[in-house]
Amino acid sequence: MEIEVKSQKDDEIVFIVRDAEVPFINAIRRCAMVNVPKIAIEDVNIIRNDSAMFNEVLAHRLGLTPLVSDLDALEGLSLPEDDDWDEYDNGIMFSLVEEGPKVVYSKDLISSDSKIKPVYDTIPLVKLKENEQLKIEAVAKVGYGKEHAKWMPTTVCAYKQYPEITFNDDMEIDYDCASACPRGVLKSDKRSKKIKILDIENCAMCKSCVRASTNGYINVGYRENDFIFRIETDGSMPPKEVLLKACEVLGEKADKFIRFSEEGGSK
Ligand code: SF4
Repeated sequence: MEIEVKSQKDDEIVFIVRDAEVPFINAIRRCAMVNVPKIAIEDVNIIRNDSAMFNEVLAHRLGLTPLVSDLDALEGLSLPEDDDWDEYDNGIMFSLVEEGPKVVYSKDLISSDSKIKPVYDTIPLVKLKENEQLKIEAVAKVGYGKEHAKWMPTTVCAYKQYPEITFNDDMEIDYDCASACPRGVLKSDKRSKKIKILDIENCAMCKSCVRASTNGYINVGYRENDFIFRIETDGSMPPKEVLLKACEVLGEKADKFIRFSEEGGSK
């Protein structure tokens, strides 16, 4: 198996995996989505809320506000599966005390731990009118996406098989197929009497080009064992960390399965 990183940013990584199987790639995708630990607000105590927003909606917004959950932030925190996990001992306290008129933003949440704070400062939480007050205490905890979407670090976690475009040289060149492509993957070059493939990895395999060709000049397929994988996060952790943790979790699960099989399923 070969892996090639195509691009990497603070919140997105795109890489190509060659010579792999669909179940394996899909297992990594699922682990990245639901088995990577992340911090999110879980308990909210609304002491005063004069705003027009219902308490439940406000609590939901706080839960979905991405909090920094990288390796540094998670260091020293117990995980739900650890022996010393205590639901109440492992919380990070947040407070929010505001008075209108103003828009309350995520940056107004005061954390008890300087490492664990909202990823973005400018997420609007609630609008307060003149003299309206807000007093909230909240507790953030480590959790997993399999329990609730707020603990899911990924906003996009998807793969597609590597596209393959071939031309039928026995047929007359059909330039219509290039102009039918909505993603700029194909370009007609009438001087050299060719259709050029500009960016095959951008091909969505929608087959608009195939449908536009009346003589079957173009074919679109995919490579069975090559994949383009894309992970985008909500900023709470770098996508590379998500990927590495997902691989670690998958490895642990495989080890457990092997041990279980070797022991004859006695445990
Ligand atoms: S399959 Fe769709 S995206 Fe790919 S080249 Fe054809 S028209 Fe473009």
